[in-house]
Amino acid sequence: MSEPRHVVVVGGGIIGLATAYRFARAAWRVTLVDPSPARGATWAAAGMLAPSAELLPGEEENLNQQRRAVAEWQTLSDELAELVGRGPTITLRGTLLVGWDASDRALAAQFAHVAREANVEVRVVRREDEPELFAEVSPRVVEGYLFDGDGWIDPDDAVATLLSANQQLGVDVVPETVRRVESSTDGVVAIGDSIKIHADYGVLTTGAQPLPEGAKGRHVVRPIRGITTRLTGLDRSRQPTLRAYVRGRSFYLVSRPDAYCVIGATAEERPEARVEFGELARLMRDALEIVPGLDGAEYLETRYGLRPVSTDLDPFIELLDDGRWIWASGHYRHGVTMAPLASSAIYSFVSQLS
Ligand SMILES: Cc1cc2nc3c(=O)[nH]c(=O)nc-3n(C[C@H](O)[C@H](O)[C@H](O)COP(=O)(O)OP(=O)(O)OC[C@H]3O[C@@H](n4cnc5c(N)ncnc54)[C@H](O)[C@@H]3O)c2cc1C
Repeated sequence: MSEPRHVVVVGGGIIGLATAYRFARAAWRVTLVDPSPARGATWAAAGMLAPSAELLPGEEENLNQQRRAVAEWQTLSDELAELVGRGPTITLRGTLLVGWDASDRALAAQFAHVAREANVEVRVVRREDEPELFAEVSPRVVEGYLFDGDGWIDPDDAVATLLSANQQLGVDVVPETVRRVESSTDGVVAIGDSIKIHADYGVLTTGAQPLPEGAKGRHVVRPIRGITTRLTGLDRSRQPTLRAYVRGRSFYLVSRPDAYCVIGATAEERPEARVEFGELARLMRDALEIVPGLDGAEYLETRYGLRPVSTDLDPFIELLDDGRWIWASGHYRHGVTMAPLASSAIYSFVSQLS
């Protein structure tokens, strides 16, 4: 019997973990290298699956991809459940978008208009008609827009499930940084301080981090930092995800059924992976204004991450010049949503090369 084909995946964020799973499931031998899997942008993500409420003008193609990705999450979750006994839960309750002051309300109206133009179902909702939708939202907000089709997944849960599935499928996880990559006509090499891994193909899913030495891509990826804060003590889990504009800044609250909330997110054109005090203070101030009930919530933690952003804001899969290393990145603010589709696309791309 011939040896299974071997792929080395460098970078174990949500994209790398899902990619490793796709290859392992297809009976490839898989080595995943990451000094700290799922501690990049994936760690900070709120897990919103929000194609509709995040739509910007000109992103219609992206909207369609994300809608497919949301459907694919359910398929992937069912597949993972078969393998490891449970799959991540996909909750689809839509998004309520509101504005804090008059100019924020105008911003929300503009967003609703863009979404409608792209055939997203959006309806105006009023507190006096549907008070439950506005549960915990400041009483000064009396109207908003309800976007259909959006939801959320818990990224921690998705990561844990993918890690178990990968373990079960025999993925070898190597906790190292790949410093240099090489290739020849019959394979690739990933080199770290104490590793030299040979494989047939290599996939670089390194998010917003610079590529290892020896890998030269045509794309350019820049980091946009964001933070999210986790709290307990407020439950809006039976309601849609809340999105708001507060003095021009974007805010959201995702409420999980165990009264655990994620609020976010900032967007700073900075490469430093850390939490800045002013950034956190602004997020908290916006949170308390739009959701006053957070005043008594228990603070758990604030996470930070660097969103990987390409020049045209779209994700990409690039075959490097050597024809054996593949670079997949640029998932920006939708990487968790896109993981099932991105990983299938990467797997198909490499399968066609081999
Ligand atoms: C605050 C915030 C909120 C977000 N919220 C959402 C959301 O609600 N919904 C959504 O869909 N998306 C969201 N995103 C976006 C999403 O998190 C990203 O698009 C996604 O995590 C990108 O995944 P990735 O695997 O490409 O990168 P990452 O998660 O950054 O993973 C890259 C991995 O590569 C490893 N690595 C890098 N270089 C090397 C090397 N040389 N050797 C070995 N390993 C290496 C790193 O250690 C890291 O683990 C959010 C992002 C942020 C920052």
